[in-house]
Amino acid sequence: MKLLIIEDEKLIADNLKYGLEQHRFSVDVAYTGEEGYKLVNDFNYDVIILDLMLPDMQGEELCRKLRQEKNETSIIMLTAKKQLGNIIDGLNYGADDYITKPFEFLELLARVRALMRRSSKNKENLFSYREIKLDLDKEQVFIGDKEIRLTKKEFMILEYLLRHKSQLISRNQLLEHAWDRNVDIFTNIVDTHIKNLRKKLGKYGNYIITIYGSGYRIPDEGSERH
Ligand code: CA
Repeated sequence: MKLLIIEDEKLIADNLKYGLEQHRFSVDVAYTGEEGYKLVNDFNYDVIILDLMLPDMQGEELCRKLRQEKNETSIIMLTAKKQLGNIIDGLNYGADDYITKPFEFLELLARVRALMRRSSKNKENLFSYREIKLDLDKEQVFIGDKEIRLTKKEFMILEYLLRHKSQLISRNQLLEHAWDRNVDIFTNIVDTHIKNLRKKLGKYGNYIITIYGSGYRIPDEGSERH
């Protein structure tokens, strides 16, 4: 899943990006509000982590602007200001959650996942299709009871397909959600990872259906076609 961090403190932003990437998110960083605003309009993020104190604008201001423009991306506010007033303002401006600095990385991670659960119909951190199970909390994939070792990208691709069962997912969607914005969109990198993922899934690899010229799809449980 794809996250955007809008935070001018480079050390915090870069550490957060690194940490979240280790937990199988694709992460973009903006160091100013303006840059963040531009990225939000160019890409589809699942969650935005927004610092309140930015050099060119207040986080609340950006949050309000996005909501006025009917952007419904989940937003977690980062604030060093512990005053209740700022927190209430942030929530009134349309933020979904907030966390005060300094914060524990694992708490932020849990809040990001909680927000993603809230905005999806899947209320658990568990995704599955027939024998394949993906556990987000443990960051493990199983076929039946047997664990399958996937690379981060393979995991992210499988997660995205399982989250959107029965939907046709294009290569561009996978590129957008499993890679950051620096990816070269003209490579066949997605096909290569799908190929490796299928190989690791063995005979269950054909649960990932290729829609020629369009993308990939994992069927819904009810469907027997695979
Ligand atoms: Ca700041």
